[in-house]
Amino acid sequence: MGKHCVEKALVFATHNAHKLKEVQALLTLPVRGLAELGCTEDIPETGFSLRENAFQKAMYVYERYGRPCFADDTGLEVPALGGAPGVYTARYASLPDNFEARMIAGDRRVLADIQAAETAPDAPETLQPTFAQNMERLLHKMRGLEGPQRRAAFITVICLIEADGQHRYFEGRVEGDILNAPAGAEGFGYDPVFRPEGYDRSFAELSLETKNRISHRGRAVAALQQYLDRISTC
Ligand code: IMP
Repeated sequence: MGKHCVEKALVFATHNAHKLKEVQALLTLPVRGLAELGCTEDIPETGFSLRENAFQKAMYVYERYGRPCFADDTGLEVPALGGAPGVYTARYASLPDNFEARMIAGDRRVLADIQAAETAPDAPETLQPTFAQNMERLLHKMRGLEGPQRRAAFITVICLIEADGQHRYFEGRVEGDILNAPAGAEGFGYDPVFRPEGYDRSFAELSLETKNRISHRGRAVAALQQYLDRISTC
């Protein structure tokens, strides 16, 4: 295999069957999930940025299975909250109450402090909050904010590791607003409170097809596909 030729199948370092299906529908190459590799381990995710996490997950799989693979990481960033919840989007509701204040103050050590507290030997098990709990915290922390202060962006970073171990990143981003209250029942995560720019409905009120076309993940996967198209001619 040449330096930049991609194998006939790529491994997607995810245990999430929903995401795997979504990405399989968007890429022209065959994509295999971790279940097909027989990998059931939890992959560590301890970075302080989306890039670090995507790299860490992809490298974990590459090192164990020696196969070209990619991993993704997504965060919701609210500038008025100093970029929170950011890298901690999935477990936002379980974070200490001063998280946003420290992010607004530019105190990035808060990320390491949270991780240290979570990995301390006597730390209680961190339970993954529900989507409803995460949205409730976001709405609570944004109470009183209006207009441009409600701006937010979803960002997805994909890290691809090729057969020769070289890695590269692809990013997708969608700008929007955080609504004052949840609307709609489709989708998952923060979809009911996120209204993408140019639309008068939340992600949870849009069809999956529309969401995939404009979403952070859809755009990141499209950038990956473009790259794969470019190098497949070698
Ligand atoms: P992950 O890195 O893809 O697991 O995403 C981290 C967290 O971001 C998820 O647990 C969700 O809460 C949130 N999230 C990711 N993608 C979306 C989306 O498309 N809509 C709403 N929330 C999302």
